[in-house]
Amino acid sequence: MCGRQVPYAMTSYRPEKVTCPACREHAHRQYLRFADQAERLSRMPGVNISSDQAARSAEWHRDLARRFSG
Ligand SMILES: [Zn+2]
Repeated sequence: MCGRQVPYAMTSYRPEKVTCPACREHAHRQYLRFADQAERLSRMPGVNISSDQAARSAEWHRDLARRFSG
């Protein structure tokens, strides 16, 4: 991981622009983690996120993760 493309990968949502394989892999793992977090958050009491919103957020992050892999 060169470290230069990681911040870009985490903010641009443009997997096709991230050419470093290690940075792509890093972003892939991060987005999978965000997806899990969204689902976990929605199950916590007192958190103002509906399960519907959480499901959509998780889906969105998983889709991005897929685009960063391979
Ligand atoms: Zn890199």
